[in-house]
Amino acid sequence: MRALREFPVLQLIRFSVITGKLTTGRLGTRYAQTEWVCLALAALFSAPLGAQEPRLIVTPARTSPGAIVRLTLEPTSAGSDSIVAISGQMGGEPVHFLERDSRVWRAIGGIPLGAADSVGARVVVEHFSGAADTLSAYVALPRPRPTRSRGRRRRSLSVDSRFTRPLDSATQTRIDRENARAGEVGRRAHSSPPMWTSAFLRPRPSTITSRFGSGRTFNGTVRSSHLGVDFAGKTGAPVQAANRGIVALVDRFFLAGNVVYIDHGGGVVTGYFHLSKTLVSPGDTVTRGQRIGMVGSTGRVTGPHLHWSARYGGLTVNPLDLLALGRWYGGR
Ligand SMILES: [Zn+2]
Repeated sequence: MRALREFPVLQLIRFSVITGKLTTGRLGTRYAQTEWVCLALAALFSAPLGAQEPRLIVTPARTSPGAIVRLTLEPTSAGSDSIVAISGQMGGEPVHFLERDSRVWRAIGGIPLGAADSVGARVVVEHFSGAADTLSAYVALPRPRPTRSRGRRRRSLSVDSRFTRPLDSATQTRIDRENARAGEVGRRAHSSPPMWTSAFLRPRPSTITSRFGSGRTFNGTVRSSHLGVDFAGKTGAPVQAANRGIVALVDRFFLAGNVVYIDHGGGVVTGYFHLSKTLVSPGDTVTRGQRIGMVGSTGRVTGPHLHWSARYGGLTVNPLDLLALGRWYGGR
């Protein structure tokens, strides 16, 4: 910046920025002034250089396993060579770009639960001319934390004896089969585009009693993670579809009890567990907010509540991240 201060045009911009701040009576910081000058410089010197490099941005740049992240693709500004296809993957799952205004494309991706250090996204943009751009971006993950947590007690489970008994092999086989069916629902959700046009809703308006990934301790060590979000509710309280989709699975599972899985397209599935009653059937199209079942305590639980889960393809992800998306993806 110092060398460029000799440019008369820059002096002019700096002068006008400072004058503007003085006349409006707002004293900007030196940092803010410098930022303005940099923006003006960028505008002055980038224009004659022509097309910009395509960019792939993943946000947030740092997150946790199980998160849903946002991918933004800003292709080149060379308008004559139109884009014919965009494909890509992140965390072993395909990503699905939707075009937004001003030639910006957006997609979401999931961070695998077992991921460490970083996860990469790789996207190929194919043009009408046959040219292709390959872009990569990375998300940083925290190093595994030491088991001792600061200033916050971890949940200690007082476990019902029927839950601590080892499972017989037939039961374990049943659980494996049910997990495989849920995984298959997730993979199939990649085969249709997003069906929703509004933000995801909470499945119940009630208090959240357990969050995603809350550490559960047993004899002082973390034994398992909670792979969903629990909402308070009495048996019979209503449960609503978080968004538009097609009911993919209704069944009674060993661990999850009475379940409903909704395929929203675009790789996204939501699951509703421990229901006392289900009100939909596989193949039904449900609207956002439609009542699909009632809170219960079926499956391996100690009391009535709603466990809400989400998948991105084969990955289990934090359903609260769907709420946080708002209309950023799949909205109009
Ligand atoms: Zn739960």
